[in-house]
Amino acid sequence: MILDGKKIAAEIRGELRTEIDAIKASGQRVPKLAIVIVGHNPASETYVNNKLKACAEVGIEAVKIAYEAEITEQTLLSEVHRLNNDETIDGFIVQLPLPDHINETRILSAIDYRKDVDGLTPENVGRTVQGLPSIISATPRGIRELLARYQIQTEGKHVVVIGRSNIVGKPIAMLLMQRPYLSLPGMSAASLGDATVTICHSKTRDLKSICLTADIIIVAAGCPKLLTADMVKEGATIIDVGINRVMDERAKGEGTKGYRLVGDVDFEHVAPKAAYITPVPGGVGPMTIVSLLQNTLQAYNEHTR
Ligand code: NAP
Repeated sequence: MILDGKKIAAEIRGELRTEIDAIKASGQRVPKLAIVIVGHNPASETYVNNKLKACAEVGIEAVKIAYEAEITEQTLLSEVHRLNNDETIDGFIVQLPLPDHINETRILSAIDYRKDVDGLTPENVGRTVQGLPSIISATPRGIRELLARYQIQTEGKHVVVIGRSNIVGKPIAMLLMQRPYLSLPGMSAASLGDATVTICHSKTRDLKSICLTADIIIVAAGCPKLLTADMVKEGATIIDVGINRVMDERAKGEGTKGYRLVGDVDFEHVAPKAAYITPVPGGVGPMTIVSLLQNTLQAYNEHTR
């Protein structure tokens, strides 16, 4: 069965729209998000435009703050401090990656964790690990929501996560192994958590044997066709986080870009063995964007409480 992230994300956007319409109807101001983008990375520009569009759809006010790639770290830090102190902004994100001369960790660490709707500040990550109220980063939140909405239980399951990045691998592993009583705001199924989690990375030996014991595999490596059918047991659930651009002759032509997006899973051969599987595109990607909207509303509710 396909885990239809596009459909679930549309459902959630509908729920958010209803909530924000009610805020508006009560005469209060609507939630406001700021997105800081540095330079002209085409993928980043696409992501930012998609985020702005999604905000407009649910009634979140969104502003884009664009800087040229030459901006100094100090100027960007000053912008972060300004946004931290701007009472009209409920949450903001600094679109990654940043140019090489800017230290990402220093920038992220400067964001007030209450406005950190990407959930990437050390404070939010630490609070999440400890089961304290926090803002969870968008992709892990989206994966968890997708599992919950399809009522895929994780208790006692063996979850293999391929990838150990701060934005996907580490936080999703931590969320799924937590005791449900440590559940955080916005969680829709108490049964999520309590999994036995194995985290794999590029130095892992015999990835295939580990994957063959998994009930759920979450792949976030950035390698097309990394997960093949011989690595998957019958009836496993497969979550493909990867977004890779591959050149495709068929996608060439006037007005087209000459590439298509694929995940990290050999979908064609893995899908017949899987009980549930996310497609790329249309799986985790739309869930990530809608999670940012949920995080913004969460920050707004905390801010205006
Ligand atoms: P990242 O920071 O590059 O991390 C990739 C991880 O995968 C690393 O831990 C790396 O191991 C591991 N890895 C790479 N090749 C491997 C291999 N052959 N076998 C086992 N492990 C391997 O990437 P990321 O930011 O987490 O993103 C991962 C993918 O997800 C990318 O394609 C990205 O575009 C996509 N993504 C999608 C969304 C979405 O909304 N759908 C959101 C975020 C990211 P080492 O640590 O040993 O290097």
